[in-house]
Amino acid sequence: MRAIRRFTVRTLLPREIADLDDLAHDLRWSWHEPSRRIFADLDPELWREVHGDPVALLGALGAERLAALAADQGFVERVREAVRDLRDYHERDRWYQHRAEELAGSPTPLPRAIAYFSPEFGITSVLPQYSGGLGILAGDHLKSASDLGVPIVGVGLLYGSGYFKQSLTRDGWQAETYPVLDPDGLPLSVLREEDGSPAVVTVGLPGGRALHAHVRVATVGRVPLLLLDANVPENDDAARKVTDRLYGGGGEHRLQQELLLGVGGVRALRLWSRLTGAPAPEVYHTNEGHAGFLGVERIRELVESGLTYDEALESVRAGTVFTTHTPVPAGIDRFGRDLIGTYFGGECALPGVPVEQVLALGAEDYDGGDPTVFNMAVMGLRLGGRANGVSLLHGEVSRGMFNGLWPGFDAREVPITSVTNGVHSPTWVASEILDLQRDRLGIDPVASPSASFDGWLGDGVGDEELWALRHTLRSRLVEEGRRRVRKSWRDRGASPAELGWVDDVLSPDVLTIGFARRVPTYKRLTLMLRDPERLRTLLTDPERPVQLVVAGKSHPADDQGKRLIQQLVRFADEHDVRHRIVFLPNYDIAMAQDLYPGCDVWLNNPLRPLEASGTSGMKSSLNGGLNLSILDGWWDEWFDGENGWAIPTADGVDDPDHRDDLEAAALYDLIEQQVAPRFYDRDERGVPVRWLQMIRHTLASLGPKVQATRMVAEYAERLYAPAAAAGRALDADRFSGARELADWKGRVRSGWDRVRVDHVESGGLGEVPQVGDELSVRAFVSLGDLGPDDVEVQVVHGAVGEDDYIEEFTTTPLALAETFEAGRCSFGGAVRLEASGPFGYTVRVVPRHTGLPSSADMGLVANA
Ligand SMILES: *Cc1c(COP(=O)(O)O)cnc(C)c1O
Repeated sequence: MRAIRRFTVRTLLPREIADLDDLAHDLRWSWHEPSRRIFADLDPELWREVHGDPVALLGALGAERLAALAADQGFVERVREAVRDLRDYHERDRWYQHRAEELAGSPTPLPRAIAYFSPEFGITSVLPQYSGGLGILAGDHLKSASDLGVPIVGVGLLYGSGYFKQSLTRDGWQAETYPVLDPDGLPLSVLREEDGSPAVVTVGLPGGRALHAHVRVATVGRVPLLLLDANVPENDDAARKVTDRLYGGGGEHRLQQELLLGVGGVRALRLWSRLTGAPAPEVYHTNEGHAGFLGVERIRELVESGLTYDEALESVRAGTVFTTHTPVPAGIDRFGRDLIGTYFGGECALPGVPVEQVLALGAEDYDGGDPTVFNMAVMGLRLGGRANGVSLLHGEVSRGMFNGLWPGFDAREVPITSVTNGVHSPTWVASEILDLQRDRLGIDPVASPSASFDGWLGDGVGDEELWALRHTLRSRLVEEGRRRVRKSWRDRGASPAELGWVDDVLSPDVLTIGFARRVPTYKRLTLMLRDPERLRTLLTDPERPVQLVVAGKSHPADDQGKRLIQQLVRFADEHDVRHRIVFLPNYDIAMAQDLYPGCDVWLNNPLRPLEASGTSGMKSSLNGGLNLSILDGWWDEWFDGENGWAIPTADGVDDPDHRDDLEAAALYDLIEQQVAPRFYDRDERGVPVRWLQMIRHTLASLGPKVQATRMVAEYAERLYAPAAAAGRALDADRFSGARELADWKGRVRSGWDRVRVDHVESGGLGEVPQVGDELSVRAFVSLGDLGPDDVEVQVVHGAVGEDDYIEEFTTTPLALAETFEAGRCSFGGAVRLEASGPFGYTVRVVPRHTGLPSSADMGLVANA
């Protein structure tokens, strides 16, 4: 029978232990082992049954048990102590507060508040609002911001059933289910008006319809996370479905989600400020393009307060940071322009924001672009005064990929920098390792983003102890692997009597290689199967066997990905290898937390350079795992020859099959000739001494780098602070800076076609120029209606190759020398010759203004 109404009945906790409710609703428990232990100790069996969900646990405890706990003085005191610790965590000054004081008088002080928008947040398996790396990164960003005291507020959507749960059919095909979440049973609270009614965000839809949402707030330690939920009574049936699934529907459904996330998200922030007194953010960080409409809504707000569109755009850009996450086109949202026209034109138009302007923000109006689409990443770059990729290599790839937006500039000058991703170690590292590290080696990366990990190089933790710990972690994974394989086979229709063999699946003594991630084609789940016989030989080697633990979800619409999974599952089903290779269905945070600590080697073999960063290998390394990976993403940056192995890439090979053959062969060779021999090379104590040296070196060298605290600190200092400073400069004195900048840009744009380099003179060098000589340059330029202060005239110089192309160049500004009539002037200066060999230079004019984050910013240049 179908219920006509549903609600969740909450347990009323006895007064003595009422604080447990606060502990359960602050997600800090998800990375704070002592808090989790309190819940586990309440009822260990029930804790397992509810999969480590404190809210569910409290709801399931009977009145009798609660009364007994309330009468237990020891327990009551433990709860009080935990809550004191949590309050202290919230209130005490942390890294950001100290750093803010140090930077207070500098040109780039730290901002008062930052908003962080993302379509998904992976914080704990209890709140399944993520599909993969992008969401996990967002979760780690918030948690580390909390640990560092960074005043961030997260903004996202609450999906009715999150991402799908994966299982397998008998023949190894991925099956998806979408369990519906009960928002009242999640660790969330409803944002309410003063009268107690839910606060409502409303966004207009075509046809005079409206999309309403309530705001559910997750407490991520010190960081509030606002999640917009459209499944509310105020909506019509169709609107209620807008937040039904993460990446569920196609074009229009996705657009409605992004409209709610961006436009609705800004409105939710305003409600949040009004109802809680929280300061308005000075910086808006958009995690990938999905939330890009937030800039459009902020423009609307400013136009309403009296600015022109162009002035508002300048103010918004100054305070916006855009992070691009993928060089894979399928990862970038593109909508038909007509659809955008429907949602931002006519009766849906935001006052003061003409639809033509919105369309222009996402137009692919550059070489190779598609004139019929609206590109969310392109809009992100146009609305973000500062932009970055997520590893050094990905920064470079992104500059090349988006060069078309800055025509006339070299890819190296494209204003996209990089901040390499990091991971939140308290979430991902086994508590045994964290405890050892903190108590015996004095390493605490949570308190400080620059903690040294060199303690791992000493003998504070001995070889035997470290090896025994690795064995414990591997054994735990083996147990968990068997449990999951058994469950998977039951789901696939096998009876318990058929499954005796599962007791011998995996071994706690065998070299364990992990491979888990989403299954888009470029990640090449099945590269290891390229030569099945070779893989079989490695798995079943009588002396030095390896075992593989594999997991990953394919996007529900991606049949190709599902075929790859099926191929792998079929291989893993074969009787002679099924004890050495397993596919574990439903890769999620909970599984990941068992997987990373238990694996000796973490394998990653993407098609270079399509992996923007990758973070699972970082999590493995912090647990004492060694990486075996293609030099892509973060590994390209930090592989040093001793912290793991690099699988050689066949980058230049165009035939993809041939490339896979080459790279797979290199992978097999590495495992057979280097990885396995080192793992099984034991001394008289049974300890693989050289292996442990690699682990120690990995922990010491990568430990400080791969922390999300390092990443968040970098964002704060390199991007948030300059963005806030730029925003303040434009907004001060009733936006006079924004008005002036918009006016200036208008003038420069309309006058730019008359700017040119007329003629260049040089001198100062002898017959045979030598290192140390000075080349003097004088450039005669026409500026039309612009003045000499509006531009910078630069010498671009450096070593030239055969085609006169300047490979690595430097720019040297010239100074105004003379002004003539009709907008003509000359600029002069000198360039020192620093290196021997072929040298070349050219001269160009670019716009100049203190409000430009870079001289390429406007995409205008006049070359000689
Ligand atoms: C870390 C993590 C990812 C991302 O891993 P990549 O290496 O970036 O592919 C995806 N899913 C889960 C559950 C994770 O923990």
